[in-house]
Amino acid sequence: MRRLIFAVALMAAGLCPAAADTSRPVIDVHIHYSEDAWAMLPPPEAIKVLRQAGLKKAFVSSSSDDGTQLLYKAAPDLIVPVLRPYRSRGETGSWVRDASIIAHVEARLKANTYAGIGEFHAYGADADTPVMRRMVELARERKIFLHAHSDADAVERIFKQNPEAYVLWAHSGFAPIDKVRDMLARHKTLWADLAFRSDQAPGGRLDASWKKLFLDYPERFMVGTDTYTPERWHYVVEQARYSRTWLADLPPDIADNIAYRNAERLAAWALGQ
Ligand SMILES: [Zn+2]
Repeated sequence: MRRLIFAVALMAAGLCPAAADTSRPVIDVHIHYSEDAWAMLPPPEAIKVLRQAGLKKAFVSSSSDDGTQLLYKAAPDLIVPVLRPYRSRGETGSWVRDASIIAHVEARLKANTYAGIGEFHAYGADADTPVMRRMVELARERKIFLHAHSDADAVERIFKQNPEAYVLWAHSGFAPIDKVRDMLARHKTLWADLAFRSDQAPGGRLDASWKKLFLDYPERFMVGTDTYTPERWHYVVEQARYSRTWLADLPPDIADNIAYRNAERLAAWALGQ
């Protein structure tokens, strides 16, 4: 009876039991903590948000990288540091042609521990510039992944440079589902995050074609928010809840893979754990 009352109370609060359940661990692989977020959300507050979302871990990168280091120091158990090559905001479009980025990234890689390089932006032939080529080499040397906000063409160019590169494809390239399937079929070390897209589960209901894709590639997908502006931090808790809701439409082991295990494995590989 108590249980029934509790369930009714949840429904009255607009929360179906699946949506209210925070027991499924989630790793958010697409968090940024860039300069403009630091004042609005100082590190202890940012960590509080990540914990409120019930996250097991968060992959964090930032412009500049100092933001990532601040969060990592505040909660090393929670933060998986990823090195964004940008020294400040506004380098998104210019960095691939800026040779001074290379020394910056090399110095950071020497000074700190990172699971990956990214999230960076590179489209088409930009993936073949000397700066991007060096990023691919550095990732190979250090056995870390590349978090690429890229079109399929740029991802292909990365794999041409290093067929064994580990690539986390941000937003699954915002590519249509058939393209995502095609890319996963062709590259065994390509993972795809679902940040800032909702076509996999419009309104929280798992789409049938995406369900089939998740069942066919249960080890390749991850979830994330993408806090590319400070305001996006308001969605971190909601995003984890949304993910838990649609993941509940999958068999539990596959839901766990997408919720956190795939990310956990990638981080463990990169950090040598
Ligand atoms: Zn992003």
